Amino acid sequence: MADPDLKEIGLMVGLEVHQQLNTRAKLFCGCPTTIQGGEGHKLQRYLRPSMSELGEVDTAALFEWSRGTRFTYIAPEGCSCLVEADEEPPHGLNREALDVGIAVSMALGSSIVDEIYTMRKIVIDGSNTTGFQRTALVSLGGRIIDEEGEVGILSITIEEDAARRLEEDRTFSLDRLGVPLIEISTAPDIHTPEQAERVAKRIGQLLRLTGKAKRGLGSIRQDLNISIRGGTKVEVKGVQELELIPKVVRNEAIRQMGLLEIRRELERRGVSEEMINFQSKGVDLSEALRESSNKLISAQLRQGGVVMGMKAPKFGGLLGKELGPNRRLGTELADYIRSFVGLGGLFHSDELPKYGITAEEVERVRKILTAEEEDGFVILVGKREKVENGLEVVKARLIQCLKGVPKETRGANDDGTTRFLRPQPGSARMYPETDVPPVRLSIVDMERARLLVPEEPEVKLKKLLKLGLNEELSRIMLNSIHLDLFEELVAKYHPKVPATLIATTMENTLKYIKSKGGDTSRITDEVIEEVMRAVFEDTVTKDSIPEILLEVAQSKLSVNEAIKKFSRLNEDEVTRIVRTAVEKLDNISDERRAFNIAMGNAMEVLRGKVDGKKVAEAVRREIEKRREKDKARG
Ligand SMILES: [Zn+2]
Repeated sequence: MADPDLKEIGLMVGLEVHQQLNTRAKLFCGCPTTIQGGEGHKLQRYLRPSMSELGEVDTAALFEWSRGTRFTYIAPEGCSCLVEADEEPPHGLNREALDVGIAVSMALGSSIVDEIYTMRKIVIDGSNTTGFQRTALVSLGGRIIDEEGEVGILSITIEEDAARRLEEDRTFSLDRLGVPLIEISTAPDIHTPEQAERVAKRIGQLLRLTGKAKRGLGSIRQDLNISIRGGTKVEVKGVQELELIPKVVRNEAIRQMGLLEIRRELERRGVSEEMINFQSKGVDLSEALRESSNKLISAQLRQGGVVMGMKAPKFGGLLGKELGPNRRLGTELADYIRSFVGLGGLFHSDELPKYGITAEEVERVRKILTAEEEDGFVILVGKREKVENGLEVVKARLIQCLKGVPKETRGANDDGTTRFLRPQPGSARMYPETDVPPVRLSIVDMERARLLVPEEPEVKLKKLLKLGLNEELSRIMLNSIHLDLFEELVAKYHPKVPATLIATTMENTLKYIKSKGGDTSRITDEVIEEVMRAVFEDTVTKDSIPEILLEVAQSKLSVNEAIKKFSRLNEDEVTRIVRTAVEKLDNISDERRAFNIAMGNAMEVLRGKVDGKKVAEAVRREIEKRREKDKARG
């Protein structure tokens, strides 16, 4: 596919960055913010969409409701209480989280409101026991300076994280529910995919510099609002890898371009909503395809399912139109029926004959559906009710093709394409949370928060250089998710354990371990800290750090067991091992050769436990001793 100039087609991107905060307690209760999982009491809730105070039922809520309303929650002990279970009203807004919100607002020049009101935002996908998410606006406005132009900040809010979805369908853990999040929303001032990545990085770095950001998979999530001229603002949720952002932006822009081209072509062909409504009718094809060698069709027919088809008037050639890598209009239709009615298979005219459906069968289907050459058609397979509902969904999506880009919430795929998740929620989703009193900000509050205002990156960089890190390593550290751990360990162990060693362990040694197939998730902050302390206390040598960490990552050894395995031997033991190696030599007349052999044998035992220099000294000493002994013997 040709690579379009995205600026030229009016690309506009806004970011919403959500970062979990590492506060002592959750946003509305005293539970800790460690997301530790585990078993616990099970509870069930039924959620139903209610009218908002503006009298509308949210379309997104209705969509979720149509998929079932019963949810199960696991309440792990120690990280959830009656507040998460919605058995007890929320406590007051966590001030530590609010302080971070104020500090970040100050750093971005955002105007802080006088009074913080907690609001309820309707969420009905089951990820919240209450059916809403609590959110508090901290500030409005502000900006980020970027080389391609200034990017405005729309708002900064503090909100509660949702319950964590478990693998089992419709089941959530309450451990994550209520963990404070800061949300920063930018204006749609971003005009290139690269700028989107840069601004997201800049925001992530700023948040880490507060020292209050959580780390690890899922601790930061970015949503992207993407549109092109003539398109629609589409929300893409849950991009976790920053490197994926430019790809997602590009692919979504290309998808919208493709949909606009389809709209123009349909217009040219004279397709209207009435035409689709009148001509697109579901027809039973079960008899016509009874002998088909397509596996899905034959299996469904055996199990009492049906095959139905529907004409897509004058859509010939458009169902197969490419909308991105491996994505076609047909893929979009398949996404819709999967999401709305839970139906897996869809075949369309532009991909047939294929999958065991023969040219003859295609001809037969065309005849039954009265589909001419210029028409397209789709075939759905499954239980009758689902198939009939699915055809209605397809028809509605075909009608949307006349309008262009549907207003949707989409999810990012690992390859940087996106898929339909649900219709976009309307704007009537917020109403006041009366259980949480508003917080009037005082001068004292502002001064306390000011202490958390992150340093400018350039100031921080200078500090890193001063610690002895070279330019390159300083820049890596400045952008590292480990920056706060690094600073903590430097404060405790530098200069005896040099800052450079701490930095290279975090940034290079972890990469080395990954390249050796080690499980770096076993290298937790605590593991890194234990190893640094062992070096600080002279229990192990600094050379043994990679081996100790590799041992932890590859085996089931705990860090303390690994440290023990590599622990520095005391001098007596070193002397004993070296002496044995020297005594084994049968001839020491060639001093150099004797040294090399004894050294090699001793190092086999001592590698990683003693500095090589010390071993060499001991070897020389022991050879000298033996020479004197040999001489004395005569
Ligand atoms: Zn709690």
